[in-house]
Amino acid sequence: MVYSPAIFSLMEKVVIIGSGCAGLTAAIYAARANLAPLVLEGKEPGGQLTTTTLVENFPGFVEGIDGPALIMAMKEQAKRFGARFAYGFVEDLERGDGFVRLKMDGNWMETRALIVASGASARYLGLPGERELVGHGLTACATCDGAFYRNVPVCVVGGGDSACEEASFLTRFASRVYLIHRRDTLRASRIMAERTLANPKITPVWDSVITEYLTDDAGEVRAVRLRNLKTNAESELELKCVFSAIGHIPNTAPFRGKLDMDEKGYLLQSKGTATNIPGVFAAGDVADPVYRQAITSAGQGCAAALDAERYLAQFE
Ligand code: NAP
Repeated sequence: MVYSPAIFSLMEKVVIIGSGCAGLTAAIYAARANLAPLVLEGKEPGGQLTTTTLVENFPGFVEGIDGPALIMAMKEQAKRFGARFAYGFVEDLERGDGFVRLKMDGNWMETRALIVASGASARYLGLPGERELVGHGLTACATCDGAFYRNVPVCVVGGGDSACEEASFLTRFASRVYLIHRRDTLRASRIMAERTLANPKITPVWDSVITEYLTDDAGEVRAVRLRNLKTNAESELELKCVFSAIGHIPNTAPFRGKLDMDEKGYLLQSKGTATNIPGVFAAGDVADPVYRQAITSAGQGCAAALDAERYLAQFE
């Protein structure tokens, strides 16, 4: 148990699941509306921005802003207006009559309105033995783990903005960064792609996929087996760490069968941010398979808080 039930009301007005960009923006708006929202921080407090470095495209920061610093500032801003924070993982949700019941770490709580902003988590390739290798030469967070791999070769898998960002960041530490991509053009935005390919420490490995992680006697990654998808040629590449940057999976498992979602698990919204359960709203990456930007998540968080506020008017 990592939270104190004493801070909860018998019936919360607004509970927000998730403390990333969407959840914190919802918290700022709901708190300023005097709703004293309760923010439940999940397994990845602060969300994806806490695992990134410089955010260059969030409006208002001419020189960019450090991702974790941006999140910390949002949290302080929400607290200033009365938002409350608790740690815990929401396991289940039940629809009540004019309220929603939430099960967190074995305890049930009730709230009039709920904003689901539980975000998305990093995807891995799905190769055998992968789960055991996380932390032993396999990770999805360059900011967290990059410094462990000084003066050794590493690779990043993927061809999107995340892969480019991770690869560029890793050149601060690694002797060489291989960018392994299954096609021969990057999906990343042009500015990111050009910057990445111009970096002399980054070597693209085109049209290739990892088919196996090879480990040493200590169980640490020492190389990967690659297959070229055009020629079918197999090869081995020696490196010390694989950084996965192949996208994300929405964190909606606890809501399966309760909240409507698409085939990939993204929550479906109608009439703004509303879900299929009255009083439950969705915001950010958990409901966005398309844009997935910090600023669009923030915008959704704002919209969800406004939708929740309007919904709550009927109980006054
Ligand atoms: P993404 O754009 O979906 O890119 C995922 C990459 O992984 C793609 O290149 C994809 O290959 C590859 N991939 C997917 N499944 C794979 C598999 N099983 N095996 C091998 N490769 C696989 O994801 P993202 O880079 O995380 O970006 C997500 C969103 O966040 C985007 O909208 C992006 O613009 C945004 N973002 C922005 C910034 C920034 O502006 N600073 C930074 C990071 C992310 P294909 O290309 O062949 O599909």
